[in-house]
Amino acid sequence: MTLKADLRDFLDQAGNVLELTDQASKVFKFLSEIVSTVSEHIEQPLIAVDLQCSSRADGLSCRGSIEAKCRESGVIEWHCDICQAAGVISHWQASRWDKQERTFH
Ligand SMILES: [Zn+2]
Repeated sequence: MTLKADLRDFLDQAGNVLELTDQASKVFKFLSEIVSTVSEHIEQPLIAVDLQCSSRADGLSCRGSIEAKCRESGVIEWHCDICQAAGVISHWQASRWDKQERTFH
């Protein structure tokens, strides 16, 4: 199953994190960590994120690690290197977790 996430769903119009349930805030922490890591290494084809698969929800015991990459469309894809867990993250650009160096042309 692919977890489709839109970062805007967790943020208000000013880009601040909404008040989230414990579960949602755990998911958000997981997603925002992926966004920061991927955007920092955006040129790499596959990025190892310093996250364990189990950190995305309570009760998960998978010991896999998360790998992610940014598609040309700008959507971040992530997956666990052990289990079938995977997801995509959209609309993360220009959020405060976007660590890309801004270059203006
Ligand atoms: Zn896993």
